[in-house]
Amino acid sequence: MRTITEDELRSCFVNCSKGDAKRLNLPKDFAETPWDDLDFLGWRDPKAPDRAYLVTETGDRLTGIALRFASAPGKARGFNSTSLCSFCHTVHTGGGVALMGARRSGEAGKQGNTVGQYLCADLACSLYVRGKKQTLLGDAHDDGIPVEDKVSRVRTNLDAFVASVLA
Ligand SMILES: [Zn+2]
Repeated sequence: MRTITEDELRSCFVNCSKGDAKRLNLPKDFAETPWDDLDFLGWRDPKAPDRAYLVTETGDRLTGIALRFASAPGKARGFNSTSLCSFCHTVHTGGGVALMGARRSGEAGKQGNTVGQYLCADLACSLYVRGKKQTLLGDAHDDGIPVEDKVSRVRTNLDAFVASVLA
């Protein structure tokens, strides 16, 4: 994705208040974000561990989504079990995947309607599919699919998730 500024980031959230978007904490290393390697920017709030965010680009429109951890990362399942991220299909040991919920935008969200997904707990899907970040399992569960196909799979799943939040 292209490089975005802090102002752009804070003004693109669709499912939290303007005040919340203004106050949220940026990734610690925001200035060094490897934009070229990202399909979306995803991060956990460095000061509020049950919160995470993602910002994605569709055409030239940015969409930011605030997420809440529905299960405490690493505690929901035993260490020996594995889980799959529904965006990038990366296999992690128990703590590497977390159930996250996004409040839907608009009236549905006000009524408490949320959409849940099991995602890489660090939201680094883009880096896992490009081999720039390794899970604790290493390559053991790599499905052998070419990187371009993995990238487009992330894109497809991400777009579907964004659509379900906006619906
Ligand atoms: Zn993932």
